[in-house]
Amino acid sequence: MEFNLDTLVRENIKKMTPYSSARHEFSGAATVFLDANENAFGSPLPVNYNRYPDPLQWPLKEKISQIKGVPPSNIFLGNGSDEAIDLLFRIFCEPGQDNVIIFPPTYGMYEVCAEINNVAVKKVPLTRDYQLDLEATEAAVDANTKLIFVCSPNNPTGNSIERGAIEVLLNNFAGLVVIDEAYINYARQKTFITELTEYPNLVILQTLSKAWGLAGLRLGMAFAGQPVIDYMNQVKYPYNINTATQQLALEALSNISSVNNWTKTTVVQKDNLSEALLALPVTEKVYPSDANFILVKMTDARRIYEYLAGRGIIVRDRSKVMLCDDCLRITIGTPEENNQLLEALKKYMA
Ligand SMILES: *Cc1c(COP(=O)(O)O)cnc(C)c1O
Repeated sequence: MEFNLDTLVRENIKKMTPYSSARHEFSGAATVFLDANENAFGSPLPVNYNRYPDPLQWPLKEKISQIKGVPPSNIFLGNGSDEAIDLLFRIFCEPGQDNVIIFPPTYGMYEVCAEINNVAVKKVPLTRDYQLDLEATEAAVDANTKLIFVCSPNNPTGNSIERGAIEVLLNNFAGLVVIDEAYINYARQKTFITELTEYPNLVILQTLSKAWGLAGLRLGMAFAGQPVIDYMNQVKYPYNINTATQQLALEALSNISSVNNWTKTTVVQKDNLSEALLALPVTEKVYPSDANFILVKMTDARRIYEYLAGRGIIVRDRSKVMLCDDCLRITIGTPEENNQLLEALKKYMA
C-alpha cells in the first residue's frame, strides 16, 4: 500500500488560499488590538466575549495533548465530531466522482454528509455478528474510494470492531481509514490513538459529547498525522470553536475523576439493566455492548417504543434498520431512570 496524501486531496483544496484572520497575521505580544473591528468596550454580559476566539485553540489542545498523549499539532477540534466528518468529505471527496465506504448498520452522519457533498456511499453490511466483512470491503474499494468509516464501538449495535480487521484496512487501503471512537471511554478495547505514528492514513474521531457529559458544548476531536490536520485547519471556519466552549472545555478536562466515576457507574448500570431486561418476556436478546447504550431485540419493538413514549420514556426505535429487526437502542440512564423503564415494561406485559 502506497500512501500519498497529495493524490487523495481535491485539486481545488490543494490550490486554495486559506482565509487569513486578523489574529492569524499578528501573533506576538501586544496590548492594543485595533485590528479585528471588535467592540473595544466589552460585552453586555458578566463575562466579556467581545474578542474573537483563538482560531487554533492552542491552550485547549495542550490540555487534550496531556490527556491523550498526542502532540497538539496532531489534534483538530471541531463543532462536534460532525464537523470533522463533514470536513473530511470536503477535503478529500470530489463531488459526483469519489466515493466512501460505510458498514451499516452504523452512525447516520457519514451518509448524511456524503449526500450533502454529493459523494457516493458504498455500503458493505456488517456480518451477522456485527463485524467487518473484509472480502466484501476489498471488492467494494475502487480507485475513487477516498474514505472508509469504521465506528468502534459501533452505534447502534454497541460492539467493538475486531482490532485485527481494522488493522487489515489500515495496512491495505490507500485512502483514509476514519475510526469513530465516540464511545471509547466505555470500551474494553483500546483506542487506536497509540497507532497514529504507525499509520499515515489513520484518522481517529472522539468527542466530549458522550462520556465527558458535554454534548451541549459541541466539541469534537480528530487525531491524525499533521498533513491531514493541517488541511482540516485550512478548510474549517476560522473561528469554529467559540470562546465559551474553549474555556469551559478546558475547565471540564481538569475534572477527570467525576467523569471516570460516571463511566464506571454507567458500565455497572448497563450490566444490571441488561440482566433485568433479559428476565422480561418481551426481551428476546440484549446484544453485548462496549458503549453507554444497549441494542435490545424485543418481541414487538415498534409497539413497545410507542407504549414507552406514551409514558414519557423515549428510547430509540431501530427496528427498521438493516440487521436490527425488532430492536430498540436504549441509552443507560441513572439508576432511577433505568428502574422507571423496567417498571413501565413490566406494566406493558400486565
Ligand atoms: C454521538 C456520536 C458522535 C458525536 O457527535 P458530536 O457531533 O461530537 O456530538 C459521533 N459519532 C458517533 C458514532 C456517535 O454516536
